[in-house]
Amino acid sequence: MSPSSHADLLDALRAQLGPAQVITASDAMAGHLTEMRGLYRGTALAVVRPANTEEVALTVRACAQAGVPLVAQGGNTGLVGGGVPAGGIVLSLARLDRVRSLDPVNATMTVEAGCILATVQEAAETAGLLFPLSLASEGSCRIGGNLATNAGGTAVLAYGNARDLVLGLEVVLADGRIWNGLKALRKDNAGYDLKQLFVGSEGTLGIITAAVLKLHPRPASTATAFVGLASAGAALALLTRLRSRAGGRLTAFEYMPRFGLEIVLRHAEGVVRPFAGDHAAYALVEISSEGPEAEALLEDLLGEALQDELAEDAVVARSTAQSKALWRLRESLSEVQRREGASIKHDVAVAVSRVPEFLERASAACEAALPGVRVCAFGHLGDGNIHFNLTQPIGMEAAAFLDLWPRFNRIVHDIVHAMDGSIAAEHGVGLIKRDELLRYKDPVALDLMRRLKAALDPDGILNPGKVVPSESGAAASA
Ligand code: FAD
Repeated sequence: MSPSSHADLLDALRAQLGPAQVITASDAMAGHLTEMRGLYRGTALAVVRPANTEEVALTVRACAQAGVPLVAQGGNTGLVGGGVPAGGIVLSLARLDRVRSLDPVNATMTVEAGCILATVQEAAETAGLLFPLSLASEGSCRIGGNLATNAGGTAVLAYGNARDLVLGLEVVLADGRIWNGLKALRKDNAGYDLKQLFVGSEGTLGIITAAVLKLHPRPASTATAFVGLASAGAALALLTRLRSRAGGRLTAFEYMPRFGLEIVLRHAEGVVRPFAGDHAAYALVEISSEGPEAEALLEDLLGEALQDELAEDAVVARSTAQSKALWRLRESLSEVQRREGASIKHDVAVAVSRVPEFLERASAACEAALPGVRVCAFGHLGDGNIHFNLTQPIGMEAAAFLDLWPRFNRIVHDIVHAMDGSIAAEHGVGLIKRDELLRYKDPVALDLMRRLKAALDPDGILNPGKVVPSESGAAASA
């Protein structure tokens, strides 16, 4: 397409949306051209900010007619390069930020895609209900982005991924048509479950503009503990014990290695050592209950675990402030890794029962490949989802270390694959894992993905080059 027709497209969008909503100034666009980790940097003709579903639809229609691709952006907190543009339009959903309705009896709320996750949680809380999706980025990620990535987070073991928390969607399709699938039903077998096609599709099949979310009863009591453990195996044994005794009341079980707590205590501000001694592994445990007993139950269960030598030490929070302080130990970990040096990151999943085996195999293989590499493997043990991160060896150049990323991908992903796991657990595929799918995804599944993409977006307008690898690999689809 020629520059003059690009100018025509932008003029048409300015006329329809208002000039202030079509941003072309490079300083105002800068934050939309890269993501937080800065691994990818893109270019765009403009950042376009529609105010409602109809304006999203007319933007998509205009782009489709002009043959200009679009990439949707919510909070731009994604970590896999999925929201980084490659020359077309960035479609920001930030202005679609209304809670359209809340039905406390049906326990559902209808929200627009640009609602910040924390705002959704607060709206549910105001009605005495719970929207349980919870991520460290919840103050800036937006619900459309959460659904487009099928976000996970810390409450998945009790409530499921974003996929499990949605009943209906409104989606703008690649040709600009609006699909109104905003049903608030818990049973609806009238044909294919289309909404689930769009959940986790990372903006490659349609633009999510609104959603009906499933709400849960708000727990009357919640208790948090930090536990010192002898090993990852002990963490798994404790998880199994707590699950069998607390059932659905176990709402978080997060794993951290000794190195993880060390760097949190070294670099994070305002954190407090949970107990005097050091342990090989730690777990952040949370129990929630519709009755008042969460703290007493957690204390009893951890008391037994200490007696049975499943756990080495434990502290139970006595106040909301203490609970927040314990959560900070876990939540700071993503951030403080940067302060310790460059990181090579893998977001992977294996069966919960095989996490200790995975940690042992992958750690040994990486340490053998690069003596001195520091394994920082942590995450959602309750879901089998580990952020298997590697911190640069002391004394090694960051750039030289990061050059080894493909080599470590091969080591870690081969082990995950051999263990029937997933190389993309909760952050998605985006750009960073796209071509890894060629090696690890079943060829029939890849064929189905390509057919779905071609059926729903035949002209390749929506987030081209992301998620779905071309048959010949990166070059053809970049
Ligand atoms: P964006 O980053 O804006 O977009 C992500 C992808 O979705 C892109 O491909 C984009 O094109 C597409 N997209 C966005 N909005 C729409 C839409 N309305 N319609 C169609 N496509 C759309 N993720 C987890 O799963 N679990 C975690 O625990 C977690 N913790 C995190 C902690 C930190 C500190 C950070 C920075 C990130 C974390 N993430 C986590 C990753 C990220 O926050 C999630 O992927 C989140 O769901 C992205 O939401 P967003 O609004 O920022 O989406």
